[in-house]
Amino acid sequence: MSTAPVRVAFVTGASRGIGRAVALRLAKDGRHVVLCARSAGPLNELKAQIEASGGKASVATADVSDSASITAALEGVIKQHDRLDILVNNAGITKDGLILRMSDEDWNTVITTNLTSAFVACRVAARAMMRGRFGRIVNVASTSGIVGNAGQANYAAAKAGLVGLTKTIARELGSKGVTANVVAPGWIETDMTANLGDDIKNGVLSMTAVRRLGTPDDIAAAIAYVTSDEAGFLTGQTLVVDGGMTMTS
Ligand code: NAP
Repeated sequence: MSTAPVRVAFVTGASRGIGRAVALRLAKDGRHVVLCARSAGPLNELKAQIEASGGKASVATADVSDSASITAALEGVIKQHDRLDILVNNAGITKDGLILRMSDEDWNTVITTNLTSAFVACRVAARAMMRGRFGRIVNVASTSGIVGNAGQANYAAAKAGLVGLTKTIARELGSKGVTANVVAPGWIETDMTANLGDDIKNGVLSMTAVRRLGTPDDIAAAIAYVTSDEAGFLTGQTLVVDGGMTMTS
């Protein structure tokens, strides 16, 4: 009797927020989750938590804004497991400012961390996934990349870029059993949104059909489906998970 392989999932930005919830959910669903962020401390704690619940996890530190760093981390995982089934490019940052005052540095840092990192990770993952004739790539974008957001030219451009990158990968790798999709969250309660004022928060709430803010688990549930074996006919799509805030796609 053949047993199904344990899927190996690499999740960036797993130290907190959405990435942490994704890691916990994928581990609960039976994946071996490789936890990636810049420092090992929170990742080791999460690994222990996953293992205490009977799950499988390991830690791979990397700075995703450094092409050599994320490449080495992914190559190490592929060498160790001789496979890579799921890649969730979730790590991201904001450096907000109106266009008139946005520096080249803030533009470049956000593009490198939020977009170039995903390109580099997909490039490494693609080879292993094609070899295994199975792959699930998810790039975590944002509604800002779809409808725009004042003060986020850099962030919105990076997130919109992920959509084009993802559709292209979907076309290039579809015949090899590899799917690529975007999950685009609306407002999710994490460190990233913690310091935005009540006026902005209330504005978002008033536009959100379900009349609540999102949780990291809302996004983890969507990513669990998109990365599942049964989602093989879903590719090149942008799944907007925003409680009905934008309803644009
Ligand atoms: P968060 O709580 O601020 O967490 C960001 C994560 O990214 C952390 O794990 C952080 O790890 C990691 N990270 C940042 N820079 C990194 C780097 N250079 N190298 C490696 N890891 C790095 O953010 P979040 O709210 O969970 O957001 C996760 C993703 O969802 C992001 O792509 C974000 O743009 C997107 N998103 C969020 C919202 C929202 O409302 N929260 C809405 C739409 C889209 P370390 O700092 O430990 O390295």
